[in-house]
Amino acid sequence: MATILDGKAVSAHVKAEVKREVEALAKQGVSVSLAVILVGDDPASHTYVRNKEKACAEAGIRSKTYRLPADTTEQALLALVETLNADKAVNGILCQLPLPKGLNEAAVIAAVSPEKDVDAFHAVNVGRIMLGNYAFLPCTPAGIVELLDYYRIDPAGKRCVVIGRSNIVGKPMAMLLLHRDATVTVCHSKTEDLAAITKTADILVAAVGKPRFVTADMVKPGAVVIDVGMDRDENGKLCGDVDFAAVEPKAACITPVPGGVGPMTIATLLKNTVTAAKLQNGLR
Ligand code: NAP
Repeated sequence: MATILDGKAVSAHVKAEVKREVEALAKQGVSVSLAVILVGDDPASHTYVRNKEKACAEAGIRSKTYRLPADTTEQALLALVETLNADKAVNGILCQLPLPKGLNEAAVIAAVSPEKDVDAFHAVNVGRIMLGNYAFLPCTPAGIVELLDYYRIDPAGKRCVVIGRSNIVGKPMAMLLLHRDATVTVCHSKTEDLAAITKTADILVAAVGKPRFVTADMVKPGAVVIDVGMDRDENGKLCGDVDFAAVEPKAACITPVPGGVGPMTIATLLKNTVTAAKLQNGLR
């Protein structure tokens, strides 16, 4: 029986700490606020944004969501970002991805002020992550590292394999594990003989976006398995990138979906928003 890495429980600790920090800042006259931009009708995006709004409210962070129609022009979207950049009452800005077709995600990411970029997607923040002197941590990878820390799973010296090389998960995940002295291999859709590589992993991170993609024969006995996927199976049920039922008996530790990486991602977003407020108020 594997240890279940309980992101829901661990994120509750992180959120409680964030709440204490927000209260302490309020006593110093500093309020913490997040602006969320949501364009279009993607149901998953609407759910994610609702979860973020709820988490902000519970932590005492003011959040305001700008819901824009799918036919919003890039010009209008960039104008909103500029307004929020200039608004001193806004500490963090998050534009929920993916954007509807026709809108240039790279342009929007580049438009957000790096000081308010609580997703850490801006090139300046990506560069800082690469160099290891970052203010904002990329939410999903940093949430995963926090989860590993909580369970005292030290990546140092370990062989880590990340499946996926997206800018928001795979690449920064590899970088954070490298900063923790892991030996990291990044795999992707062109990787040959994927299973031969994943089977070498002490820590395996799956960020593929394909339901139950990682099967038991791809996992080394005793591995730590981190499932980033938020997928829908053939019946429309939420599941991860890992075949949990088959892999769990083989793994030492595993994250469930839901209740694993997802809550940790949101907890890190809250932390980043507090960091932004502190930096903007000269408190860090
Ligand atoms: P993405 O941008 O679609 O990237 C998927 C990656 O998987 C790509 O690098 C792709 O390789 C690789 N891949 C696809 N098929 C493969 C195959 N057969 N073998 C090996 N690699 C393969 O996805 P993402 O944004 O990183 O997200 C990944 C998953 O995590 C999704 O399910 C998403 O919903 C979920 N997610 C969850 C959270 C959370 O908080 N829990 C946050 C973000 C994302 P190429 O680069 O070669 O195409």
